[in-house]
Amino acid sequence: HICRLLISEGLARRTNMNNDNNILEFIKYNRDILDLIMDLAPIPLFIKDRAGRYIDCNKAFTEVLSITREGIIGKSVYELWKKDEADVFSAQDEALFQQGGLQVYETNVTSLDGAHHIVQFHKQVFTDSSGAAGFLGAIFDITEKKDLEYALAQQAAVDELTDLSNRRDGMAKLEILHKDSKKKNRPYCIAMIDIDHFKLINDQYGHNNGDIALKAFSDLTKKLLRSSDICFRYGGDEFVILLPETGLDDGFTVVERLRQAFDCNQLTFPDGRSVHSTVSIGLTQYTADSISLEQLLRASDKALYDAKNTGRNKTACIQHNQKTKNII
Ligand code: GH3
Ligand code: MG
Repeated sequence: HICRLLISEGLARRTNMNNDNNILEFIKYNRDILDLIMDLAPIPLFIKDRAGRYIDCNKAFTEVLSITREGIIGKSVYELWKKDEADVFSAQDEALFQQGGLQVYETNVTSLDGAHHIVQFHKQVFTDSSGAAGFLGAIFDITEKKDLEYALAQQAAVDELTDLSNRRDGMAKLEILHKDSKKKNRPYCIAMIDIDHFKLINDQYGHNNGDIALKAFSDLTKKLLRSSDICFRYGGDEFVILLPETGLDDGFTVVERLRQAFDCNQLTFPDGRSVHSTVSIGLTQYTADSISLEQLLRASDKALYDAKNTGRNKTACIQHNQKTKNII
């Protein structure tokens, strides 16, 4: 409102502005008052000409981006910012000149002191008698907002104890994998894993040590699985592993390696006591596109049930609609 008032009431009269005015001239001859207005704004503002060179900026711009006013005037983005960031600014500037009007977009800016900012640009073209003459830009620093959004998304997706995906995030990933595999007609495996007699660990060693055992198993999955595999905590002492692009035989090798490694690993708790713990695994494979996700989950659950009921510390495989194929 102050800007509008000053410009309409004061500046226009003092500079004989008419419809054919040249805004760059206007900026040049009204520098003092424009600087006053721009410096009053708490957000970084800048002006560029049609060639994409900085004509001016305000105090907030110099403070946020650790640069002096003299240091930017007449410069192009390539003389100031990192090449990959300058590429974005330059392409967006050109798009704005082509389309005219207002442009809003989010991107990254590294200030001259090396600080990383996620920002939202608002840029408005101004014209003179020959067309687009430059633009006025405002920068909103949204780094904190983005960090918070990321932290909240992480919290909603990650199991706090094990740092694995939680059930909600894992199931969302499974749905994507299922759709993708169906589309490409590619196999994948689902393994359901449950720690054997886990209640006894809690009862004999305490809940905190039970937590340590859960964490030890999840750490082992992180160590032994490929980065393209997904392990998530299904709930309690139950985990699910998804093996994209993997048939039953290869899947069996992978989860057996994990089962055996856990079997060989004596868990030592901070209080010095140690325990031998094992897991049972139910493995199934997606092959035919007629199989639904629910059917697959039921099959792997059935295989896990079979592994538990035939002695635990083993992997049972099941093909959909088939009896347990292989119990080791
Ligand atoms: P089974 O071999 O049949 O699986 O026997 P189990 O004793 O492991 O039985 P079950 O899988 O049903 O037991 C799961 C136990 O896990 C029950 C619950 O008290 C415990 N539990 C669930 N969540 C947590 C947790 O976050 N931390 C700890 N320490 N224990 C948990
Ligand atoms: Mg269990």
